[in-house]
Amino acid sequence: MFLMAGYDFRSPRLYVKAQLGEGAHIALDRAQAHYLGTVLRLKSGDRVLVFNGSDGEWSATLAVERRAATLFVGVKARAQTSLADLHYLFAPLKAARLDYMVQKAVEMGASLLRPVLTRHSQVARINTERMRANVVEAAEQCGVLSPPVVEPPVAFERLLAEWDAARFLVFCDEDAAVSNPAGVLADIPRSPLAVLIGPEGGFAEDERAALLKLPNVVRLSLGPRILRADTAAVAALALVQAVIGDWR
Ligand code: SAH
Repeated sequence: MFLMAGYDFRSPRLYVKAQLGEGAHIALDRAQAHYLGTVLRLKSGDRVLVFNGSDGEWSATLAVERRAATLFVGVKARAQTSLADLHYLFAPLKAARLDYMVQKAVEMGASLLRPVLTRHSQVARINTERMRANVVEAAEQCGVLSPPVVEPPVAFERLLAEWDAARFLVFCDEDAAVSNPAGVLADIPRSPLAVLIGPEGGFAEDERAALLKLPNVVRLSLGPRILRADTAAVAALALVQAVIGDWR
């Protein structure tokens, strides 16, 4: 269980690829050195928390020398935690909204992000590397120690054809009758979950019909207004975390 008590909110947090352990030296790449030195204006001797997704979180001290920046790893600050299994599936959006949605999904605790190409998706080309960079930045900012996995985009038909019957789908559908969403979610059996948000253009009727034929699916209404996809993402993930997830 991840407790917020005693949690260091102040020190900047950096995701690194290197193995972490007491006494390790981490040579930072240019982007990381720029982030710590120029963006955050840290100086030699300043404290940074580092994590790599597997060795927990460690306290480190920055040393800046001409163009090279190194982190000297000291003591362990937090044991490694893993994210609860929660897949976030979404029709891709255009750049700025997609950046936002990806960051928010990380803050909301999604463990896997997967773009789904639907008939009315307005965006076909997705920059997966950019999504990964946003995931890392959000993980650094919100304290998640295992950045969620970013999957390459999948066609809607293939997603359904390969659906794992053990995974329960929360299908956010603006055509669903408005009804207490907390009650709807509370009735879901304990199982791995996926939350699906559609494109700005909505789902096509046959796509909606195909979704509703899945073995484990529930339609979730997010109220009487049509939300933008990025808003719907935050609303749906907040409901899931509050009713059956890690907010309890
Ligand atoms: N088809 C709509 C817009 C879709 S909004 C139209 O143009 O009128 C984008 C996505 O956000 C939807 O596919 C759905 O997954 C989600 N969404 C938005 N508002 C919602 C609501 N009130 N209830 C459930 N899901 C909603």
